[in-house]
Amino acid sequence: MITIEQLKQSSNLIKKIRPAYQPILDFYAEVFLAQEKSKQNIVLPPLVIEPDLLRMKQKNEMPLIDQSEFLIDLKASEELFEEICDLAYDFAPKLSSTAQILKKMGQTDSFDLETLFSTILNNQSLTLQEMAEHLNVPEHEIIFFGYASIAPSIRVCSEQLEAYIKDTPKLKKGYCPICGNSPDMAFLDQDGKRHLKCCFCAHEWCVNRMGCVFCGNNEKENQHYFFSDEEKEYRVSLCDNCHNYIKLVDLRQMDRAFYPQLEQITTLHLDLQAREKGYTNAGTLTNDVSL
Ligand SMILES: [Zn+2]
Ligand SMILES: [Zn+2]
Repeated sequence: MITIEQLKQSSNLIKKIRPAYQPILDFYAEVFLAQEKSKQNIVLPPLVIEPDLLRMKQKNEMPLIDQSEFLIDLKASEELFEEICDLAYDFAPKLSSTAQILKKMGQTDSFDLETLFSTILNNQSLTLQEMAEHLNVPEHEIIFFGYASIAPSIRVCSEQLEAYIKDTPKLKKGYCPICGNSPDMAFLDQDGKRHLKCCFCAHEWCVNRMGCVFCGNNEKENQHYFFSDEEKEYRVSLCDNCHNYIKLVDLRQMDRAFYPQLEQITTLHLDLQAREKGYTNAGTLTNDVSL
């Protein structure tokens, strides 16, 4: 687990080696710090899964819960929401008008943050669309502010749930064993083992080294990747069977502490390249608001 100090250091190092990302990182690093600090104060009752249900889920290789079942610390999330709005106002010019509108709304009765949070948890896209129209702000920006505010609660729940799958054979699947969402990033640890990170609850799990993480295809002619010599810690895996891509970080090539969300933001150029080549990523959800 990375400390707040290490997170600051990693972000400063990346700013030095990739100056183009400085403005984006000025904002996101502050958001990540605010999230980590908020996470330390979150209090939530444990999610309990009855033994019978647990056995049934494991037998059928099902995720432990549905994402709608995550618990949210409302007070902590509301405070973080306001803080992230302020950060956007100060550091993210393109988000600042939405931030102002949302912050003002958050302080009135007409806009209920609890509803926004639960709409995101329940993935009710129609309601989100209506909210965005009503407030006259882009939908993906509402989702960004809302999700960023509840992410620490979601992470606290998913860390607690990890105890249920600690001793079971690893589910070597391309979806999160906790909440069933897709991975948004892969990484190789110091032993060269491949892990995936959930786009929603940030749980990390180990999978086979080879093959597409989304469709399981492992045919040589379908599996490709690209990378650049200047960034030897990054690679992008492409699958011609399901046309998904995933970014892979090789921790053996990296000399800074690994904070996946930080690497996610500083590799947006790789997403762009992969999309230009015609690939998509099933796990792209929340952290890709372009500034
Ligand atoms: Zn998950
Ligand atoms: Zn595939």
